[in-house]
Amino acid sequence: MKVKPYPHKCPNCRAQALLPAIEDTTVERLHDGQFYTVTVHNLEVSRCTACSEGTISYDSSGRIDDALRVAAGILMPAEIVAARLRLGVTPDEIAGQLGVHEAVYARWEDGGQLQSRAFDKLLRLYFANPESFRHNVAWPHVAASATLAESPRLLDL
Ligand SMILES: [Zn+2]
Repeated sequence: MKVKPYPHKCPNCRAQALLPAIEDTTVERLHDGQFYTVTVHNLEVSRCTACSEGTISYDSSGRIDDALRVAAGILMPAEIVAARLRLGVTPDEIAGQLGVHEAVYARWEDGGQLQSRAFDKLLRLYFANPESFRHNVAWPHVAASATLAESPRLLDL
């Protein structure tokens, strides 16, 4: 892909004055119903010399997502992949156990989406003991197509 030479056109003031810059950047991000203020040092941004508006590139937004993962205390994509490979299971297998769509799980691994804190806890539970997870947590999903009377019951109602 051909990259146009700087300065680029500013999306804010339309001046041809957008230049690359390396800055410590603090942003507020919403994740899973909660706001987090995250700071990333030496982030590649674009800064307009006319109106001083800053723009964060797509590449740099990945570093902000990682900082957000740290702030929210959820697993990094690489940690999810490593834990899955350690267990020798496929992405689709875990998605099925958690009851989440395969495409959603795939985005947790490739970094395109941040898992909720609740799903993060389920991931950790699964990785810690997949057999126990299958037995104690995953079975209601497996039995979802069965009739109520045939389903295993946790409580004797
Ligand atoms: Zn501008």
